[in-house]
Amino acid sequence: MISGPQNHHPLKTLSDMRRVLDVHGLQLSKSLGQNFLHDGNQLRRIIQAAELTSNDRILEIGPGLGPLTHELLQAGVAEVLAIEKDARLIPLLKDRFQSDERLNLQHADALEVVRSEARDWTGWKMVANLPYSVGSPIIVELSLTPTPPERLVITLQWEVIQRLLAQPDTDHYGILTLLLALSFEPGDWFKIPRDCFFPVPDVDSACVVLRRRPTPLVPREQAPLFRRLVKLAFSQRRKMMFKLLKQQWPVDRLTTAFAQADIALTQRAEKVTPAQFATLVASLSAPA
Ligand code: SAM
Repeated sequence: MISGPQNHHPLKTLSDMRRVLDVHGLQLSKSLGQNFLHDGNQLRRIIQAAELTSNDRILEIGPGLGPLTHELLQAGVAEVLAIEKDARLIPLLKDRFQSDERLNLQHADALEVVRSEARDWTGWKMVANLPYSVGSPIIVELSLTPTPPERLVITLQWEVIQRLLAQPDTDHYGILTLLLALSFEPGDWFKIPRDCFFPVPDVDSACVVLRRRPTPLVPREQAPLFRRLVKLAFSQRRKMMFKLLKQQWPVDRLTTAFAQADIALTQRAEKVTPAQFATLVASLSAPA
């Protein structure tokens, strides 16, 4: 790992964190998903999973008190764009990292930023302990953008990570799996024990690496159709996919598309692979 300036203090223990919260009289907010990570080993594992280089530009959503921000800057990355929604944390973060020009701190709702800004994320990695309430929509937005980041190293609730890792014909396989598969392939993951967070959350968490595919699952212009089709296909899991899709596509076009994708007309969506969905969408995108 590369090294960088050491002008801000780490925040790796529960007592460090409690002290900072007490000094500033901060009550953590459940609705903002404020379960802060205070375990040095887990922070190190997250940083290792990011495989950082000195050229890396990092998007960090929800820096909180900045434990991960500190490690990222310490690792010598080129830039950290940290977006935090809680106004109370902005002065703390400014104070903590003010001397580091590589940090671009924005007070904003990260979901609005990724939705509204047509930014080219190609040279970026996202490394974040995400706010759990908006974690899924944020990563879906990044997967749907024409120029997604090269890697996401994200901590989320285990239930969501299972959906990102899911194989066809399993309970967790569904819309989220497929929308992320548009741009990313899941790699290594590890669980993070609940007591590494303060306050201790009521759900399990894990960190996963998602790498950008060398080529997207479907051409970018077909992504909106892919999204529409997958949402309809999974709108009633127990129903045959053909019957659901018939609501929006003509039967003869669907029959041809199912044959091209080698999908039985009686199949449920949960058994259809990402590659089969891609073939279906290609077929339905072709001129009639
Ligand atoms: N990175 C810190 C850590 O690891 O200890 C904090 C992680 S905490 C799980 C999630 C953070 O996201 C909180 O600081 C919270 O205020 C912030 N947050 C919540 N919703 C947000 C949003 N829509 N946009 C940006 N930040 C948000």
